[in-house]
Amino acid sequence: MPREGLCDTAPAMTVLLQTAPAPSAVPIGIAAKPSLVGLTRARLAEALAGVGVGDKELRMRVGQVWHWIYVRGARQFDDMTNVSKALRQLLDAHFTLALPEVTSEQISKDGTRKWLMRMPSTGPHDRGAEIECVYIPETDRGTLCVSSQVGCTLTCTFCHTGTQKLVRNLEASEIVAQVMVARRYLNDFQSAATMRDGARAVSNIVFMGMGEPLYNLQNVRDAIHVMTDQEGLQLSRRKITVSTSGVVPQIEALGAETGAMLAISLHATNDALRDELVPLNKKYPIKALLDACRAYPGLSNARRITFEYVMLKGVNDSLAEARALVRLLSGIPAKINLIPFNPWPGSRYVCSDWEQIETFSEYIFNAGYSSPVRTPRGRDILAACGQLKSETEKMRARARLMLEESLVANLD
Ligand code: SAH
Ligand code: SF4
Repeated sequence: MPREGLCDTAPAMTVLLQTAPAPSAVPIGIAAKPSLVGLTRARLAEALAGVGVGDKELRMRVGQVWHWIYVRGARQFDDMTNVSKALRQLLDAHFTLALPEVTSEQISKDGTRKWLMRMPSTGPHDRGAEIECVYIPETDRGTLCVSSQVGCTLTCTFCHTGTQKLVRNLEASEIVAQVMVARRYLNDFQSAATMRDGARAVSNIVFMGMGEPLYNLQNVRDAIHVMTDQEGLQLSRRKITVSTSGVVPQIEALGAETGAMLAISLHATNDALRDELVPLNKKYPIKALLDACRAYPGLSNARRITFEYVMLKGVNDSLAEARALVRLLSGIPAKINLIPFNPWPGSRYVCSDWEQIETFSEYIFNAGYSSPVRTPRGRDILAACGQLKSETEKMRARARLMLEESLVANLD
């Protein structure tokens, strides 16, 4: 099939490519000793208690180490100047402050960055799962797109991740580690001199990388708690968006336990088509999904749900479907993000023509929804990433990430 539409007509850009090794200041993370970076407060307390920090001082010590890790981005225990020398040595003997190994970094000429990172091995036969993480800077924010699983057990027909065999949940610490890598590479930790400077490179997080976050809710929830700790990474709950393909029974808990913003991968306006595109729909059809949306904790005009709609030529992009979409969402405080389909080797769809995306978008706009279709960011490195992924896939069945900067760029 010919490739047409926005996905392939975007101008080619120069690729500014940096590959491994990672900057020498970044510790490489496959270590015999466990890293303390990414842990929740409770896990950090367990770790310190486990090496003999007594009950009386535990709370204070956790607070100190927490501050050094998450506010200051300490790279070695010796940096923790208000921690006693004896404790620093004890910590150094048992733990590290390592982050996952960054095996490549790509920087687009528009500033978008993509890191490929390898998680520490979980056992003798595991080389360590690899995932990608993308940073998209804009004038008023910097968005980091993170993964919640390696691969995905669901099989949405337009998604590359769904074709991957290797699947496992990421630990909360592995999700947090993606933010830590970004902050470290972007030099985005607070030094003593910038403690009161509120402007941060990473201000927003979207769970739109690899995996279905609501199939890993406990770790996603713990990770969000670490990210939003006001004595630590200090991200705002309202600037964290979790995208789901529609795991209805977990939606309420996501809102109640995290206060995060919700995004729904809708992609179709009737069950017959959604059953095909998002097979999970057979279990949780559109009506049940939208009922769960209406009941999402904290939903209001100021805290709208984002509905993602991938534009597939001749499949879901007619004007009649734009009308049906508006009817379907009536009464729900919503934003609609139209996503140009990103083709991948072997995919059975093509991206809608630009004119059709405009027609669709205009209808939705006139119905009162803001529906920007922005020029996708970092397309130059996306292309390079697609090649990188398929190349390495041939070599070994390793984790890949289906990540779309365009999605994130469309999020408002
Ligand atoms: N599993 C979650 C979050 C990760 S996918 C979910 O499905 O919502 C993030 C978004 O990328 C989803 O809206 C998904 O439908 C979309 N997506 C997947 N493959 C795509 C592709 N090839 N082109 C455009 N969007 C895609
Ligand atoms: Fe999984 Fe989301 Fe891809 Fe569907 S779109 S296969 S839920 S990652």
